[in-house]
Amino acid sequence: MTAVITPRDEAAVATGNGYRYDQTVEIAGRIVRARIERQHYHSYSLAVVDMINDANSWTRIVEDLACQWWDATPAPRKDLDAAAVLGPVADQLLRRAAAILAPTPTPPALSDHVLDAVSALLATTYRYDGEHRLTPDDMAWATTHGGRLHIIEHADCSVTFTKAHRDECPFITSSGTQDCDDECDVEDPTDAQRRRGQ
Ligand SMILES: [Zn+2]
Repeated sequence: MTAVITPRDEAAVATGNGYRYDQTVEIAGRIVRARIERQHYHSYSLAVVDMINDANSWTRIVEDLACQWWDATPAPRKDLDAAAVLGPVADQLLRRAAAILAPTPTPPALSDHVLDAVSALLATTYRYDGEHRLTPDDMAWATTHGGRLHIIEHADCSVTFTKAHRDECPFITSSGTQDCDDECDVEDPTDAQRRRGQ
């Protein structure tokens, strides 16, 4: 997974001795800057990506050896378009930075209490030894019919699983302390089918 790269600013300069291209972007909420400097000698050239850290200074996150791109770039000239020549080098480095900075997706954890409730849901729907495998089709059907799944843990330790309310329903927004305002109108799929004349 790679984080989105949002351009913020860029600057390019070229002289007879060297040219440079800076690109500042935002990645995963961080300000990140690629700096590519092409000098006459590759030992003086650099391609780096730095990120503003929590102490408001720069932390280096990617560094490329000049030999990877130096040979493929022209010798310094005052009238050279540094952004056009070094832009692709910066883009490649920023893509590496985005891969490093991409947040690791963590699945939402269910509490033991909610898992106990899932166990009870299975046991009361089927049997104490209930087992039911849900296919991707089952899940796709469920997400397109009825309300969104809400799980409400009540103060008395009971748990409600419901697809019967719209998201703005007071029962949902108050986490079950207020009653439904009876404006939840979740259409029965068989009625919907009939309405469409199927
Ligand atoms: Zn409701």
